Amino acid sequence: MKVLKFGGTSVGSIENMQRVKNIIDDGGTKIVVLSAMSGTTNQLVYIAESIANNKLDIALHKINELHDVYAETINTLILNPAIQKHVKAYVSSVFNLLLDSTYLPYSKGLENTILAQGELLSTYIFNAYLQQEGISSTLLPALKFMRIDAANEPDSLYIKEQFKKVLETSEQADIYITQGFICLDELGGISNLQRGGSDYTATLIGAAIKAKEVQIWTDIDGMHNNDPRHVENTQPISNLSFDEAAELAYFGAKILHPQTVTPVRADSIPVRLKNTMNPEAHGTLISSKTSEQGIKAIAAKDGIAAIKIKSARMLQAHGFLRKVFEIFEIYETSIDMITTSEVAVSLTIDDTKNLNKIIEALQVFSTVEVDENQSIVCLVGHIVVNHSKTYKLFQILKDVKIRMISYGGSNNNISLLIHTQDKIKTLKKLNNYLFELVTL
Ligand code: ADP
Ligand code: ASP
Ligand code: MG
Repeated sequence: MKVLKFGGTSVGSIENMQRVKNIIDDGGTKIVVLSAMSGTTNQLVYIAESIANNKLDIALHKINELHDVYAETINTLILNPAIQKHVKAYVSSVFNLLLDSTYLPYSKGLENTILAQGELLSTYIFNAYLQQEGISSTLLPALKFMRIDAANEPDSLYIKEQFKKVLETSEQADIYITQGFICLDELGGISNLQRGGSDYTATLIGAAIKAKEVQIWTDIDGMHNNDPRHVENTQPISNLSFDEAAELAYFGAKILHPQTVTPVRADSIPVRLKNTMNPEAHGTLISSKTSEQGIKAIAAKDGIAAIKIKSARMLQAHGFLRKVFEIFEIYETSIDMITTSEVAVSLTIDDTKNLNKIIEALQVFSTVEVDENQSIVCLVGHIVVNHSKTYKLFQILKDVKIRMISYGGSNNNISLLIHTQDKIKTLKKLNNYLFELVTL
């Protein structure tokens, strides 16, 4: 069986929902994971923030505005009167829940319940639409099988067992539709897999059922070799290895949730990235195959803090790095880049929640300097270290201030740390020269 995930844009308009219907209606049995309609999760985040800040009039206004959007979608998409009636009843119940939320005190649990409504709405509406079109489909409630543990990691065993049970006890159909993104936490409260998490839902289900393939359908022809939001002339990449895709997703290629390939790489379940607006395009196939050598793609991740930890006694003092790492472990903060010299170590983090506490703990045995507003630019490929083109990097970036460089950590990645204000310039320069649009 295949798992097909459709993102926000793919279910964000009536025209696109029709495209999705055409793509999935090929007679095969499949699991279809849907995101919320585009823009909805952002609106729900805004509503939850307004409740948290006690701006209830703004929250109410946004809820009503969103309700109007859904009312219009249903009136245009669902024309069968009986089906329209039950869809309207469901949508009203969701918007009543949102309205009721404005009377409740803010809590993280309330916020997560609000955020979950986007995927609940899109799947309910799309399932009703398929039934109206005479396609056999059933809804599988993600909250009955998708769960994270106390460390916020997916509970793979539980997901596998529960998914099987839910599938077996559901009405049989050709198309099983479920919600991306949403899950339960270890206490049974509503939670989620973080923004963009529907990709992760798809591969978690793919691993649970040992799917033949997981397809991620979005609004672009696959993974491009640079960020198309900032750089012109980017190109789709036909094939990526799991390692390459994992690096790109983790280091900011927004097309994939950072953890997308984690669940499927052990079983080598291929992940195919496809464009709902252009289904004929090849897209990107992510698999265990490695391909040609050299830098294939560039991605960038913002919101990075660089921490320089200096100690006169680091010189020849063993145990120093252990002391440093222990502090990051205590504050559950993962380190992305690291470089050392005789007297100092520089490292980067993207989760700055506990930065002040980390600095305080480090200052007990060292001097600490922090640079915020940094970005990691990550060059990804196969055998990028020692590749004949790699030597050009410093020449290409001669007028960009590079704060740190990580080379040799793996054969798939070279990372550069720069100030965020230099990011777009850096991405453009690398694009032009590395992919030989311009020669040096
Ligand atoms: P969806 O809602 O379908 O999950 P996303 O917005 O999460 O879609 O991801 C698709 C978007 O990712 C594209 O429209 C594109 O702007 C952006 N993107 C950023 N980096 C890349 C990249 N390297 N390749 C392709 N798309 C990228
Ligand atoms: N709807 C969620 C978000 O916007 C999840 C997803 O789209 O993958 O982040
Ligand atoms: Mg996405």
